[in-house]
Amino acid sequence: MEANQHLVIISLDSLGFRDLREHREELPILNSLIAGGTWVKSVTGIYPTLTYPSHTTIITGQYPNVHGIINNTKIQPKRNSPDWYWYQKDVKSPTLYDLAHQKQMTTAAFLWPVTAGSKITYNLAEIFPNRIWTNQVLVSLKASSPLFLLKMNHKYGHLRNGIKQPQLDDFITASAVDTLTNQQPNLTMIHLVDMDSMRHRYGVRSPEAMAALHRLDQRVGEIIEATKQAGTFADTNFVILGDHYQINVDKMIHLNTLFAQEGWLTKRPDQTIEDDWSVLAKTTDGSSYIYTKNFTDNLRLRELVSSVEGIETVISGQEASERGADADCTLMVEAKEGYYFTDESNRPQIVEEVDPATLGEPDRYHGVHGYDPTKPDYQTTIVFNGPAVKAGETIDSANLVDEAPTFARLLGLQFDNPLAGKYLDGIFKGVTDEI
Ligand SMILES: [Zn+2]
Repeated sequence: MEANQHLVIISLDSLGFRDLREHREELPILNSLIAGGTWVKSVTGIYPTLTYPSHTTIITGQYPNVHGIINNTKIQPKRNSPDWYWYQKDVKSPTLYDLAHQKQMTTAAFLWPVTAGSKITYNLAEIFPNRIWTNQVLVSLKASSPLFLLKMNHKYGHLRNGIKQPQLDDFITASAVDTLTNQQPNLTMIHLVDMDSMRHRYGVRSPEAMAALHRLDQRVGEIIEATKQAGTFADTNFVILGDHYQINVDKMIHLNTLFAQEGWLTKRPDQTIEDDWSVLAKTTDGSSYIYTKNFTDNLRLRELVSSVEGIETVISGQEASERGADADCTLMVEAKEGYYFTDESNRPQIVEEVDPATLGEPDRYHGVHGYDPTKPDYQTTIVFNGPAVKAGETIDSANLVDEAPTFARLLGLQFDNPLAGKYLDGIFKGVTDEI
């Protein structure tokens, strides 16, 4: 394999297999990448199918119970807006970007989750203000490559409007194009969130979500064009992937409201919870962890939870761990399609319809993810294209954990530690003993 290899990974948040199966003809850039590359159609995600755990799997090849990012947010029941797992220090497994860094490769990341405080050469870390005394630039400065962030903000900050879409993706795309053109990093990881935001707000297959998909197709085109400007196109492999899909919802399940009624936790007027809880639900949207402290009545807990409308399955912490989720939970519950979980402790009912007038407010959604990755037609997808990749090939299925070892191989690298996934041999052109 060539020295000076380049890899560009573009994550289109919430891109599903169904999107490309049904819409590829309308997406000129993605369609040409599929035609000239290898499309792995159905990719089974990890449990829970959330953005931060999934993106960490994508670059470690491990399940959440091993890499440590078992949810988007931390357990902070007294806070309405808990901290997200922003910092790499919470990742317990070796990452693709550290592997590249160790081999003296340059790396760049644009809103890639859980990379704050990392050694990525050019990093705009995803981190947003959730405390009233912070603002976007201040928290990002602490977490990103400071000079790089200042430079990108100076050049392209006018494109951005806080974290609103599609302006945030405009800013990210412009910053990535600039960096690919001027710095030619060996490894570039870009996370575009436009379509995921539209799906949460307007529904999975809404006109707004479909418009976002078309915008993303154009952005992928701009990013590829930047490598042509930089003279790196000929030795760049491209990967376009999704992290999970979404499912439409219209009803919420408030397990902590139920646990408050049972006297297992103390509710607070603003829907948060005192620290003295003995049973606590911690949502992952389509599913929910249930944690216990000094609590012995697990049988009654399981029975109670199983009787709630909209709950599809209840599994033990042991079973959750076997499926790659948090081993420390007591139970993990899965919602039926159409339902999702909140952490709210003080609602009038346990199961409540989402009032359409509240859509866009915190925790009020038209579409969510976080479900069991094997739910019907809920899989994501991945497209490979470039000099190392077979043209005109399709592979029916793979797992999200297979992506990191495949990316390492595209860069001529190999993880030293054993991974849950294995590289997708079928995408590679030529003989396998080249590296
Ligand atoms: Zn996502």
